[in-house]
Amino acid sequence: MFDAVIIEKKDEEQTASFRQIAQDALPAGNVLVKIEWSTLNYKDALAITGKGPIVKSWPMVPGVDFSGTVVESRSPDFQPGDRVLLNGWGVGEKHWGGLAGLARVNAEWLIALPSAFSTRQAMILGTAGYTAMLCVMALEHADVKPTDGPVLVTGASGGVGSIAVMLLSELGYEAVAVTGRMAEKDYLESLGASRVIGRELFTQKTRPLEKAEWAGAVDVVGGQVLASVCAAIRPRGAVAACGLAGSMDLPLTVAPFILRGVSLLGIDSALCPREQRIRAWERLAGLIDVTRLEDVVSEYPLSKAIEAAHALMDGRTRGRILINVA
Ligand code: NDP
Repeated sequence: MFDAVIIEKKDEEQTASFRQIAQDALPAGNVLVKIEWSTLNYKDALAITGKGPIVKSWPMVPGVDFSGTVVESRSPDFQPGDRVLLNGWGVGEKHWGGLAGLARVNAEWLIALPSAFSTRQAMILGTAGYTAMLCVMALEHADVKPTDGPVLVTGASGGVGSIAVMLLSELGYEAVAVTGRMAEKDYLESLGASRVIGRELFTQKTRPLEKAEWAGAVDVVGGQVLASVCAAIRPRGAVAACGLAGSMDLPLTVAPFILRGVSLLGIDSALCPREQRIRAWERLAGLIDVTRLEDVVSEYPLSKAIEAAHALMDGRTRGRILINVA
């Protein structure tokens, strides 16, 4: 038996509970992992509270990421005792996920834990940190260089945003944080933001092209904010778009793309190819001092994960939410 959060559906009514489950109920897979840490992502909170259509099959153990130790393996790539982590691949949506003591998964979904991180530190970064790294790698791939000018990060005090600010600043970019919470100015500057500007500058409808100020951007917000950012990107610049914290819409014209050669780069961490994930985690290990994020970590035991999900949806949490499974 192992502890788990489980979401069930009966007569169109969804319920989430914390209880013990028999190991033989685990889904098919060739590697069994004893989970030590997981996180609570926005997506997990949507799944647990039923506020978003995340869960695709029932019953479901939520949790799109986890870290832990291999206990059984039928794959030549992993041996018992190996420390591993997992992000995405539909885990916590279609396949039982990380908010449980055990997970049985496919070996291709796992990557070896970088030696620079403990299992806890890997989850302080979690899918947010890994996604921030993918965004920065996409900007590099689009040839946005530190010498090209300032790079915006929207939703900067959130998980993806704050780590994107750290990464850009560590790589020598002038990272400009955009936030709705000016109270977080000192924190954002401590992460490496050269300037902190208010979100309201980006929430009004803009002209198709505005003054070209930014060499690039990492956007987690979508909607009018992303549209306003695109309209103010310098010629040949790029925007990595990964989120919809503000809106799913995109009220944009094609002007930035056809008149300035701006690129809009889509970031999808869940189905990102394995080689790119391994590269992203290696680079995180080289660039991030995780201890600098400790101040924004709140830790909950697995038994309180459902409570934490409701708090997250009600806007009563801040920073990274770690779930202690061990
Ligand atoms: P967080 O909740 O930690 O941060 C989101 C931030 O966005 C907030 O801190 C806030 O920043 C800003 N924000 C929130 N609501 C609004 C709003 N209505 N309008 C404008 N800004 C807003 O989430 P994460 O950083 O973990 O994730 C950010 C987004 O990225 C989410 O939409 C998430 O689903 C998505 N995501 C996508 C992934 C992918 O693979 N594509 C992977 C991981 C996350 P501030 O207060 O500083 O303005």
